Amino acid sequence: MTLFMAKLIWAVGVVGWFAIRFEHQRRSRKTRKVRSADRLREMVLLSISICRMLVLPLTFVLSDQPKFANYTFMPWLAWLGAAVFVLALWLFYRTHHDLGRNWSVTLEIREQHKLVTSGVYSRLRHPMYSAFWLWALAQALLLPNWIAGPAGLVGFGTLFLFRIGREERMMEEMFGDEYRRYVECTDRIIPGVF
Ligand code: SAH
Repeated sequence: MTLFMAKLIWAVGVVGWFAIRFEHQRRSRKTRKVRSADRLREMVLLSISICRMLVLPLTFVLSDQPKFANYTFMPWLAWLGAAVFVLALWLFYRTHHDLGRNWSVTLEIREQHKLVTSGVYSRLRHPMYSAFWLWALAQALLLPNWIAGPAGLVGFGTLFLFRIGREERMMEEMFGDEYRRYVECTDRIIPGVF
């Protein structure tokens, strides 16, 4: 494993993520939205996340900047990062598959929205966010730069912290007791832990 390979793996992972999402976004567009929550706030959170999971790492991949924050490349860390990225993409694919037309990029309820409690949603309420955490972790392991590497953890962490409570409240308002029962028998992002 070389630094070039680690950067390439990061780039291929991101393209893989786009490929999974693009196809899904195209299909789910056909189902109308009936409710959107906090649009402006959601857009700000998404921008923070995109900057730290795409713009900063891409800058490092293409130019090694910011150079003062570089540290020695460790191949075993990058191998671990590659494995974590594969896991993230697998989980990302599964969550899109299981959520189907109920998925949206921000907090939204679609026409005939159903509460999904099967597949990867049978143990976790937010497996797609677990996948994003894994991606952010992979970025930190693959890119030997103290700014571009951990940026994803900070960026997605911000979105996660400011979204998860509001998302759960929205789902509870929409699905009432059905959601409350679902909360009782699931964890948020790590099975058996949180
Ligand atoms: N938080 C989930 C979904 C992220 S996509 C995860 O991490 O896997 C965000 C949208 O998914 C929200 O706007 C909400 O409408 C929808 N959603 C979240 N959980 C859902 C569930 N269990 N069933 C159906 N829709 C859900």
